[in-house]
Amino acid sequence: MSSQVTCPITEPLYPLLSCVRLRMGTDGAGITTLAAGAGCTLDCRWCINKKLLKEAVPRYVTAQELYTILKIDDLYFQATGGGVTFGGGEPMLHAEFIHRFKNEIPSAWKLNIETSLAIPAEKLSIVLDDVDLFIVDCKDMNIEIYHRYTGGNGKLMKDNLRFLFEKAGPEKVLVRVPLIPGYNTKDDQIKSIESIQKIGFTRFDMFKYVIKD
Ligand code: SF4
Repeated sequence: MSSQVTCPITEPLYPLLSCVRLRMGTDGAGITTLAAGAGCTLDCRWCINKKLLKEAVPRYVTAQELYTILKIDDLYFQATGGGVTFGGGEPMLHAEFIHRFKNEIPSAWKLNIETSLAIPAEKLSIVLDDVDLFIVDCKDMNIEIYHRYTGGNGKLMKDNLRFLFEKAGPEKVLVRVPLIPGYNTKDDQIKSIESIQKIGFTRFDMFKYVIKD
């Protein structure tokens, strides 16, 4: 007697923590919805998401299901040139899902990704043609400071920044450079900006982390 094994068709799922609607001026053009996902490769000291990431129970959604949730704001997106921003956590861990999601949404919707770039470069390749704006939180370009603050490998982040510049160019990338209390100084922040400029990027966001206990 022979037994037949059937292979189920699988599709990438997104571990959705929350959708924050009607955002403006924070993460991309126009009105956006932030689709926050679970999972991150870093362990940043002042991470405001850590508690959330631990406590919240993600709901695993298909690309079609997420589109169904988000299309309530279709008119806002189309009228303002806005769309969807994937954040987290580290949404680039779910690059396959994001690529799939791009095929579900109207072409007028913008697609933005907030990322630390602490991910394999292959993940970037998957979504390069799908993304309108990469919002990169680089933490600090000094590898020691970066490691002290995140526990991660700053070289990986820097290699990915260069890769992103080569493949996406400066227009599609906004680099956030924070002043991190207890970890870097204003001088470090300026040095990071200079280092990022040397790569060729022109869009920056300098700000200071506000620490709340
Ligand atoms: S990269 Fe973001 S989500 Fe991940 S630990 Fe750092 S601050 Fe938190």
